[in-house]
Amino acid sequence: MDSRLEAVRDTVLARNPGEKEFHQAVIEVFESLGPVHDRHPEFLEGAILERLCEPERQIIFRVPWTDDAGRVHVNRGFRVEFNSALGPYKGGLRFHPSVYLGIVKFLGFEQIFKNALTGMPIGGGKGGSDFDPRGRSDAEIMRFCQSFMTELYRHIGEYTDVPAGDIGVGGREIGYLFGQYKRITNRYESGVLTGKGISWGGSLVRPEATGYGTVIFAQEMLKTRGASFDGQRVVVSGSGNVAIHAIAKAQSLGATVVACSDSAGYIVDEAGIDVGLLSQIKEVERGRLTEYAARRPGASHVAGGSVWDVNGTVALPCATQNELDGDAAAKLVSNGLIAVAEGANMPSTRSAVSVFQEAGILFGPGKAANAGGVATSALEMQQNASRDSWSFEHTEQRLTEIMVGIHDRCAATAEEYGAPGNYVVGANIGGFVKVADAMLAQGLI
Ligand code: GLU
Repeated sequence: MDSRLEAVRDTVLARNPGEKEFHQAVIEVFESLGPVHDRHPEFLEGAILERLCEPERQIIFRVPWTDDAGRVHVNRGFRVEFNSALGPYKGGLRFHPSVYLGIVKFLGFEQIFKNALTGMPIGGGKGGSDFDPRGRSDAEIMRFCQSFMTELYRHIGEYTDVPAGDIGVGGREIGYLFGQYKRITNRYESGVLTGKGISWGGSLVRPEATGYGTVIFAQEMLKTRGASFDGQRVVVSGSGNVAIHAIAKAQSLGATVVACSDSAGYIVDEAGIDVGLLSQIKEVERGRLTEYAARRPGASHVAGGSVWDVNGTVALPCATQNELDGDAAAKLVSNGLIAVAEGANMPSTRSAVSVFQEAGILFGPGKAANAGGVATSALEMQQNASRDSWSFEHTEQRLTEIMVGIHDRCAATAEEYGAPGNYVVGANIGGFVKVADAMLAQGLI
């Protein structure tokens, strides 16, 4: 790391003790930014990095709710409004028992650069709760969402902060959150949340966008080596919204997706995963992957273990942070891997990224490869602002243009800064310069 940035890094780490995922995200970005500061001493003088690492506002609140038996539970809610240089804070809400401030800050920090890369007018933020939705009834989920919004509503708005989904927050939760926001404020303010239902202000393609976008990004990387998805053997982790749509898109481009996972294990289906069955089990029945193996002839389920033991030419990690470590990366490389695109946020550890890069594998980091989700959220905001709704074809076309644009910008930036083919450098510098320029232009705030 550039020595001028080391002191800033040390200060950031000391000011945010115990937030290891936030530290990891900051260090990974700082490692790319030395050459930018050679060309732009004004960023150092303006203390851009110190300001960027300190969220503009952090809100932590109590979320009390009752279960179906009438018992009272208390969870913790978060919203970190990280940076508004380019637009209103934008980023999802995650409901998962692992959520604490360090996770919300890593996600919010990454979101700043991701959102900048989309070229859309959106700042960076993230939120969520340590609430565990697993096994909860619809009525319990509704009461939790209503309680969460009863505090959150005062902090958000279409020109202020626009939350959406992330792990544990999908269309059902956005519905309950929107309903409570409308009830408290007496405003039908469509642009306050994205990921809404299609009949009440949502955008076509938003559910598919993150997974589709990840595959489009990977396809662009493959093209630089004269390859495509056609004939690739693909391994995906996760089996939620991002994974399901990544599998569908990869298979529509001629690949065979042979494996995916959930927290209890993984399935192998050499014939190619049946997306209809997977979606029925995971999205409609909210069931487990063991069900898939039980209903699909020829498929097998492996309890526990790592999906990265399955060999493939393309890996799409679409589950969660730090799910792919250095050992798993080395195994994938020795099994014939040529490309990785991250559908999840920071799924590869820093040592896994080094293994991929040293082996010359095409590696698309999440803040570039999974930006299709938030980009389509920005398209939803655009439709809401003009009281319009676009066709599937038009919206998918916009998504494709945006993903190709992000790929090309990352590739060109990496080249410009002397690291051709390094999409980590390209994404970090490309996102950072845009935000830094806007921060300088807007003065010391
Ligand atoms: N949670 C998604 C992400 O990580 C989407 C955020 C959004 O649509 O605002 O980018």
